[in-house]
Amino acid sequence: MLMSTPRVSALVFTIPLSMFCVCFCKERKYLRKLILGPRHLCLFLFFETGSFCVILAVRKLKQKDGELAPFSITPEQWGNFLCTIFDEWVLNDVGNYYIQLFDSTLANWVGQQPGVCSLAKYCGHTAVMEFNGDVYACDHFVFPEYKLGNIYQKTLVEMMYGKEQETFGVMKHNSLPQQCLNCSYEFACHGECPKNRFMLSKDGEPGLNYLCKGYYQFFDHVAPYMDFMKKEYLAERAPANVMEWARERRNK
Ligand code: SF4
Ligand code: SF4
Repeated sequence: MLMSTPRVSALVFTIPLSMFCVCFCKERKYLRKLILGPRHLCLFLFFETGSFCVILAVRKLKQKDGELAPFSITPEQWGNFLCTIFDEWVLNDVGNYYIQLFDSTLANWVGQQPGVCSLAKYCGHTAVMEFNGDVYACDHFVFPEYKLGNIYQKTLVEMMYGKEQETFGVMKHNSLPQQCLNCSYEFACHGECPKNRFMLSKDGEPGLNYLCKGYYQFFDHVAPYMDFMKKEYLAERAPANVMEWARERRNK
């Protein structure tokens, strides 16, 4: 963590639509801001237990047949969603509510390893084991070509540090289209998760992330605040000082 010990932790992450069933909401300020979104943006949970807080957002993209689900979030909606939460957070909650994606963005801004694999330069640390002991490179890539072995035949260390997993890990960066390599925010985005890279770049190259536009909007929106927090962090001051700066900036 880049900031002081968290009193409350917050995460923004995605789950399949089918997992949504109940909504508990004691703390309503984020909900109030986000309820204005379309159907999949309205569907999120906000648990507030005093020690742990979670925001879940639906971002279902592809169906089994490989087609984009009709209710999938658009890149623009994803960008608006992130910016809306960020605007609330940067004014009031930095250092109190830890939002994984924002924390990881700041980590990339200051040259540290982000806490979420999707914003890391390389993959390879989120293998998954099936009920029968088969281990795969990632829970988003449970396909025969990404099988690392079986726990009854190989140790986890052998599989996680083997050549196959290394190749899978570096593929995230090595397969980026030129548009990403030229992007001002490549250092923060890294093309996001390869599972979402099924679009053509503006030059017609395959492998652009479907959510590119939304991520670009988000990184562009938060850049001044990230620059400020980076300056504070490097000067060994609290990045949370950004809240006061953000309020002054907003009132100008
Ligand atoms: S494929 Fe996606 S989910 Fe898997 S390790 Fe890479 S970034 Fe993370
Ligand atoms: S914002 Fe778009 S172009 Fe830039 S690195 Fe991310 S996916 Fe690539």
